[in-house]
Amino acid sequence: MLHLRAAERGVLFVVSGPSGAGKSTLIEHLRAQIPDLAFSVSATTRPPRPGDVEGKTYHFLTDDQFQSMIASGALYEYASVYGRWYGTPRAGVDAMLAAGRSVVLDIDTQGSQQVRAITQDAVHVFILPPDVATLAMRLERRGTDAPEVVARRLADAGEQIRGATTYDYLIVNDDLQCAKNEIEAIFVAETARLSRRANALQRVISDLDHLPRP
Ligand code: ADP
Ligand code: 5GP
Repeated sequence: MLHLRAAERGVLFVVSGPSGAGKSTLIEHLRAQIPDLAFSVSATTRPPRPGDVEGKTYHFLTDDQFQSMIASGALYEYASVYGRWYGTPRAGVDAMLAAGRSVVLDIDTQGSQQVRAITQDAVHVFILPPDVATLAMRLERRGTDAPEVVARRLADAGEQIRGATTYDYLIVNDDLQCAKNEIEAIFVAETARLSRRANALQRVISDLDHLPRP
């Protein structure tokens, strides 16, 4: 577990990449290292797959339920990805950031662009497979999707990867330990940005201002 200084305010951490790049694996690792890091559970109209848990991996909704969330403004961002709807519930993100907790979003490149339009303060990280053959092998080996779903995800991978140019960080997920180290390092460095430590600096400056004059 990483021993970190308590944050003055939470970091909104966006993680994207083509299906099978290793986003879930790396986010799970980061959450194990940083127990206070909150994961935003998305809403989706895709069917659950093996290993999915309602309310934990996703909120599984019907098309009608999803459309009514859009209509009521309950989604922070949303997009159609691989032919299904996915969106980030607004309430969770707002509440966690307001409480000073950092939040990680596993969202696609369209979602990342929407977050950029809402705030300049988020950190955008793209997970890239070392090559397409490795991506195909990981999708197949994961064994959670039917062959036609795997084919669709692979066919759509280019759209996600071409959208990576606007991101702040790129992790090439070849050696898993190296990728884990990098995602930790990004998180640690971003929490230490001066803009996120402004109160600490002000406190010490204020102490200095109150020193008796020699
Ligand atoms: P995503 O969330 O991006 O769709 P996953 O995290 O589910 O991807 O990873 C896809 C598959 O690849 C999983 O079976 C995972 O265990 C495996 N995997 C992830 N990273 C690596 C890596 N660096 N080396 C080998 N296998 C990996
Ligand atoms: P999966 O079906 O493999 O869990 O996710 C498919 C894709 O949808 C991934 O690229 C994932 O990042 C994206 N995704 C998951 N939740 C959201 C969300 O709330 N918003 C957006 N825009 N994309 C999402």
